[in-house]
Amino acid sequence: MLGLLTRLASWLHRREVTVWYDPLYRLPISGLEATVGMEPRRADFAAWWLRESGAVPARAFRRPHRISFENLARVHTPELLESLGRPAVVASAFAVDPSDVPVDEVMTTVRLACGGTLAGARESLRTRVPALNLLGGFHHGAPAAAGGNCPVNDVAVAIATLRAEGFAGRIAILDLDAHPPDGLAACLAGAPDVWIGSISGSDWGPLAGVDETVLPDGAGDGPYLDTLAALLARMPRPKLAFVLAGGDVLAGDRFGRLGLTLEGARSRDLLVAAELEYVPTVWLPAGGYSRGSWRALAGTGMAVAAGSRDAIPPTYDPIAARFAAVADQLSPSALTEEGELTAEEIEEELGMRPRRQRLLLGFYTAGGIEHAFYRFGIFDLLERLGYRQFRAEFDAPGAGERVRILGQSGGVEHLLVEVVLERRRVAGVDALYIHWLSLRNPRAVFSERRPRLPGQEVPGLGISREVGTMLALMASRLGLGAVVFRPAHFHTAYAARHAFQFVDPDRQSRFEALLRDLAGVPLLEATTAIAEGRVRMDGAPYVWEADEMAYWLRESPVEAGEVERERDRVHFTYDRALTGGAGIAR
Ligand SMILES: [Zn+2]
Repeated sequence: MLGLLTRLASWLHRREVTVWYDPLYRLPISGLEATVGMEPRRADFAAWWLRESGAVPARAFRRPHRISFENLARVHTPELLESLGRPAVVASAFAVDPSDVPVDEVMTTVRLACGGTLAGARESLRTRVPALNLLGGFHHGAPAAAGGNCPVNDVAVAIATLRAEGFAGRIAILDLDAHPPDGLAACLAGAPDVWIGSISGSDWGPLAGVDETVLPDGAGDGPYLDTLAALLARMPRPKLAFVLAGGDVLAGDRFGRLGLTLEGARSRDLLVAAELEYVPTVWLPAGGYSRGSWRALAGTGMAVAAGSRDAIPPTYDPIAARFAAVADQLSPSALTEEGELTAEEIEEELGMRPRRQRLLLGFYTAGGIEHAFYRFGIFDLLERLGYRQFRAEFDAPGAGERVRILGQSGGVEHLLVEVVLERRRVAGVDALYIHWLSLRNPRAVFSERRPRLPGQEVPGLGISREVGTMLALMASRLGLGAVVFRPAHFHTAYAARHAFQFVDPDRQSRFEALLRDLAGVPLLEATTAIAEGRVRMDGAPYVWEADEMAYWLRESPVEAGEVERERDRVHFTYDRALTGGAGIAR
């Protein structure tokens, strides 16, 4: 009954909203997640959730156009705009290595986001319905300089364009990102009838023309919401508003220090939405550098579209949900052989001719694997990284069967994905056993900004969550109960730790003790220290144990409670590197 009432209440609150989104909002920079800590799939996850949960109907979604250079030039200097054709300049704005920047594709993403902010503002002015753009709020972009993940400034460009089109009303910008709006202040210095209000968790000195409050580290929900109420009371009533609903206000963010909970961030959005009722408004995500930052953005959508306080279930995994829906539409006949047996196949079946290696795990054809990679959107992602002409091939080099995905770049065929698989029983469960998994981006190079992890030959592709989810779906389609692999290094086990557990409970407890004792050490330093023998277990040098880890698709055969008992018995210590440790803790 309560659930029904909540739903009724949110239906009564439902307002029309437009959501601006394009799958190309995912920045095609393979090291963004691993080295910068940014979730490149944030807009995708929020869009999928808003659509699936019913918070926003499909008809509310809009696709933006890339903003024109004519409009960008209203704010930015010709020198800056010209320099954005150079990988080094764009790479420096995102703090990644230039080899990892397919510059036209990255600028397509940025220009689409700018187009979404402008189109959202125009439509909101016309209809008085709020707009949510799932990428944008590039508030560090200055007239002559890119910086802080902001090559250009979408809000300033939208304002300059609307002014040129004759809009003369007062504009308010509420910058609720955890960092100060330095680029906005620079772009809008002296602009008539623009008010900028901001709450930050970092003090970068005074910003002319900004009503800014800087809160102390870890301020938390209460003080933040009090400060916001006071800021809203000072805000002059605008004819158009931009809200930068930053995701980096969350506790655990890598760069933001305000320490809000997800509920606190939702309260923030509800408070602002109530204050701006009937004011044309564009909502923007701005920053966000934690695993949960997409939840803040999806929460903004739920607050704006439905006035909803409902939590997104903590166990909801957007990739798993999305891929499972795609997998349901993939008919088995698209993945495996179909039709009548040929004469050759009958002869093979009867043992009259040697079998060809043709079906992966007795099920998938090479074409079926290619089709799956296409349907799960992996080839689109690889194309944006600069590869074309994909093909899958199988062989059986020794233990297990090998799948390789190859793609061309610059007239050369490169190995991009390599997986060696086998069906094997583990702890009494039929499992998909992964002997080897390698995701390779040979166009990118290692550098100080893209450090080599132990065991890496070339930088990764940034698609391990997608490929991991595909392997789990593959195991499920084959009727298996687990996916199992041996993490050759600490960072591999670390990346898998949310879904996978060591099969041996003692091993799992040693791993959890290691996570506990190295909690403050950056991942790259931790995995390097273990590989170099600088980590000690109970005083003795610790050698990494590459034991089996399993993702149990049904129930785990490991007894609950076994891990907790052992965890407190071991303790790890770590010696800092004598040399070469610089540049790691960024
Ligand atoms: Zn920020």
